[in-house]
Amino acid sequence: MSKLPDYYATNIFEVPISFFKKNGFNYILCDLDNTLDTYDTLKPSSKVYELLNKLKKENLELIIISNNKGKRVSNYALTLGVKYLSSTCKPFGGKLKKFLLANDLPFEQCILCGDQLITDIPCGKNAGIKTMLFDPISKKDQFTTRFNRLIDKPKRKRLIKKHKIWHMNFEE
Ligand SMILES: [Mg+2]
Repeated sequence: MSKLPDYYATNIFEVPISFFKKNGFNYILCDLDNTLDTYDTLKPSSKVYELLNKLKKENLELIIISNNKGKRVSNYALTLGVKYLSSTCKPFGGKLKKFLLANDLPFEQCILCGDQLITDIPCGKNAGIKTMLFDPISKKDQFTTRFNRLIDKPKRKRLIKKHKIWHMNFEE
């Protein structure tokens, strides 16, 4: 069973807003830890505010979808002023799917972005939406994530070697 990402890029900050627009992704569902900021960063970085403003300008909505627990996620998301889902139980897609339905988010307009091949990507696929994989923005990981990386790293390497995934080139 293979759950490959639809897209793969270095990080969310290098993805041009035009990419989301062109592909009809009006809702950017984004993992928090090591996708937007490191797991021990309590307040959103200026880079994240910049990204949010660029998205807002184009009427695109950023929503945080995290496996981390309530307070960590809610504090961060409320500071940023965006919707969020915590304790998502990625790689399972049930909770995310419910969230999409409850918030009236059209599935084809949603993309789940995250840094983990074995949690973020299958979660999006299981919920029935498109996905984008990134490289983690730092080497610092929470305890539980360290185990995931032991599987993620060699798998990612293998997929890259087999040309099943590759970093997108956004320059035109
Ligand atoms: Mg993450």
